[in-house]
Amino acid sequence: MRAIIVHSPGGPEQLKLEEVPRPAIGPGQVLVKVAAIGVNFIDIYHRTGLYKSDWPASLGLEGAGTVESVGPDVTQWKAGDRVAWAMARGSYAEYVAAPANQLIRMPDTLDFPSAAAAMLQGMTAHYLTHSTWPLKQGETALIHAAAGGTGRLVVQMAKLRGARVLAVVSTDEKAKVAREAGADEVIVYTRQDFETEVKRLTDGKGVDVVYDSVGASTFQKSLNVIRRRGMMVTFGNASGPVPPVEPLLLSQKGSLFLTRPTLFDYTATREELEWRATDVLNWVAAGKLKLQIGATYPLANAADAHRALEGRQTTGKLLLTP
Ligand code: NDP
Repeated sequence: MRAIIVHSPGGPEQLKLEEVPRPAIGPGQVLVKVAAIGVNFIDIYHRTGLYKSDWPASLGLEGAGTVESVGPDVTQWKAGDRVAWAMARGSYAEYVAAPANQLIRMPDTLDFPSAAAAMLQGMTAHYLTHSTWPLKQGETALIHAAAGGTGRLVVQMAKLRGARVLAVVSTDEKAKVAREAGADEVIVYTRQDFETEVKRLTDGKGVDVVYDSVGASTFQKSLNVIRRRGMMVTFGNASGPVPPVEPLLLSQKGSLFLTRPTLFDYTATREELEWRATDVLNWVAAGKLKLQIGATYPLANAADAHRALEGRQTTGKLLLTP
């Protein structure tokens, strides 16, 4: 089969399309024929070595496809089942050996690209808005990178929960995407200072919560726009990881809460994984959650997808086709 392999950490040029044996499946695993692959920023962190990998590394966590065969003790899946997943390493490939307990059954009406586009970023938006800081009607949330794959979905789910959404993006084109996703106010940070704007838009009070996936370049200012005893959710490093923080800073900014969550810890049990994935896939199938597939690349051109994503060129979700 063909798969993307990374032999050592580095830039997009490290992504090599290679002919490799189909993965052998052991107990607890399922061999899935991949139909659509989701591209996520975490794939870039794996490629660069910001997040640990064993080298050579296979890449990709997310996709949708059809069960080909199952490991010896797997009873819940059978050949032909249509499944989607957000945590099966090696998904940039024609076949993946997925953990049986990470697979989710796809609604009959959903197509593979939509399922692959929804899983990881959809469940992330779900846990951020439903669990990390369960948004209440009338609360205000500030969402960075709001036209991105994850950001667009956080905006939509925050609106579904009745919150007021202030979105931050880099360009007017992205502002349009964020507005269409439901943002009440959009700040274009390349020409507006987001701290000044948020203070103006909240009459100096600040927001209840910031969902910040940008990291290093936005962290400090984000703390300045949160109301007393509000929550700072730093959940990504698109501009680089956030440097160490003094707890005293949180007291000076108004007894703030700070968390650095990961999807892994919010889908740690089968029950929680099913809750989030089923909500997300059903909402997409019902049209309650609207996906935007920004671009689809052939697997061989995965490097172009990485260049576009880390070059801030994209809106919505990027997919690869095996
Ligand atoms: P996006 O589609 O959001 O793309 C990243 C966006 O970040 C860019 O389009 C850009 O938007 C913004 N950005 C700001 N500064 C930079 C920079 N220096 N370099 C690159 N991009 C920058 O990607 P994803 O939806 O895949 O991921 C978004 C973030 O969410 C990532 O940090 C990812 O790690 C995180 N994440 C975290 C999860 C978790 O559980 N903790 C799970 C899923 C995602 P703009 O042009 O508007 O600035």
